[in-house]
Amino acid sequence: MNSLRRYVAIGIVSMGVLLARCVVAGESAKPNILFIFSDDHALRTIGAYNPEFDGTPNIDRLAESGAVFTRSYCENSICQPSRAAVLTGKVSHHHGVRTNGSPWNNKQQIFPRLLKQAGYQTAMIGKWHMHPFPSDEFDYHKTLTANGGQGRYYNPAFVAHDGSIVIEKGYSTDIIASESIEWMKNRDKTKPFLMMCQFKAPHTNVMPPLRNLGMYRDGDIPIPETFFDDYEGRNDYVKQSWMKMHGMKSPAVVKITPTYGEYELPKNPTGPERQFKGDYKFLAEMTEAQRNEWHHHYDPQNEDYRKRVASGELTGNKLAEYRYQRYVKDYLRVVAAIDQNVGRLLDWLDASGLAENTIVIYSSDQGFYLGEHGWSDKRLMYEESLGMPFVIRWPGRIKPGQRIDAMIQNIDYAPTFLDIAGLDIPDDIQGKSLVPLFDGKAPRNWRDSIYYHYYHSGAYNLPKIEGVRDDRYKLIRYYDHPCLKLGEQWELFDLKRDPQEMKSEYDNPEYQRVKKKMLRELNKLRKQYGVEE
Ligand code: CA
Repeated sequence: MNSLRRYVAIGIVSMGVLLARCVVAGESAKPNILFIFSDDHALRTIGAYNPEFDGTPNIDRLAESGAVFTRSYCENSICQPSRAAVLTGKVSHHHGVRTNGSPWNNKQQIFPRLLKQAGYQTAMIGKWHMHPFPSDEFDYHKTLTANGGQGRYYNPAFVAHDGSIVIEKGYSTDIIASESIEWMKNRDKTKPFLMMCQFKAPHTNVMPPLRNLGMYRDGDIPIPETFFDDYEGRNDYVKQSWMKMHGMKSPAVVKITPTYGEYELPKNPTGPERQFKGDYKFLAEMTEAQRNEWHHHYDPQNEDYRKRVASGELTGNKLAEYRYQRYVKDYLRVVAAIDQNVGRLLDWLDASGLAENTIVIYSSDQGFYLGEHGWSDKRLMYEESLGMPFVIRWPGRIKPGQRIDAMIQNIDYAPTFLDIAGLDIPDDIQGKSLVPLFDGKAPRNWRDSIYYHYYHSGAYNLPKIEGVRDDRYKLIRYYDHPCLKLGEQWELFDLKRDPQEMKSEYDNPEYQRVKKKMLRELNKLRKQYGVEE
């Protein structure tokens, strides 16, 4: 009797172990997700999107081994709303983060929580930017703080998982990638993982790492054809926007400063984040050694700049072009640091044997005007800031080297990740899973237009902006400015004939049928997304 019991007991234990192994094997078989997210990354500074640019070999390597989505868009072109759209799969007025500064409802449904319920281990490291900071959204988080949640490029402060503030010595993008790798190394290996690795770069004020300061020294970067745009043929608001690259004179933006020792560094940083104030705070954030090397690079350029200004050589358009070169070269050096760290992440996946079962995405919260129309920002619905890079690799599932033209948006990421994990997509999620697109051909019922709505009126002297874009046309409505009395204004662009959006056809009699069609499309989408405003 006793031995029978023992056999039964051994049998039950064995079955239990077997069952547990099956569960573990089943869960591990679900693909891991490494989501690499940057901030304000202009598509023309990614080789996979611009064949003339060769400054991102690692993002291009990722693209070659997976798919590049060529028509990938945000629904509201600023940092916080885009991040909330990614997490929730919903448009701004549904997730509630309409503007930078709108409170984040941290109790709402987000895809990382749903993945966690399905057995994933989840983490977010880097720029979060929303308020409040993460609480129980992820199993682990470490979040940039200071500078309004943007964080610093040098020696950044983070809110650690336990709520304490820690200063990490080094360069922001390197630290975020290193910490992401550390977390993946030390994860619970019985579970699949979601790692959201979120760089603050290349957001303004672009500060390259010291190792990249020698890049792009020789020669000029091509100036966009629309750099000296006079904004004729467009709405009256764009003429008044404060996004002009030439108008950004802060030393933190253009790095034109006195030579080392000829200015006073701000003292007495405040708070546990050690925040400095003033024009030279970006230099105060460095260590003495870092600052020395920084000046070693920039001082000769700034001396040269002052001489050329004093001699009268740098004025008007020449000065604007000079500022463009200075800004763009720093931007590209910062992009190079992103790319170097994408390379580190990919190399680590290869070395750890995880590459085969890990989906890797490279995206950015929106695009950026890098001198196009003379600007240096986002917000508007023109192509440069509406676009988001979206590159995805999924070995064995996505055929390498694809370029997929179906229109996608940031609201599609959450349902895609749920679909990848084999989960049902809740009905209230407004985006669509991209999984059916991975074979390269869009299903017949795929969307044929996208909806856009920017709410942060007043910022950079712009109004609210709403619109629709289809395969060829774009209709944009400008309305509700806090002080400019310009009323509601509309634009219609024919992107086939006018890809740079230099002439609105809204009042052109030849485009009245198109205009009506696009107005119908806008109203259809407003109804679909429950827009009340
Ligand atoms: Ca951004």
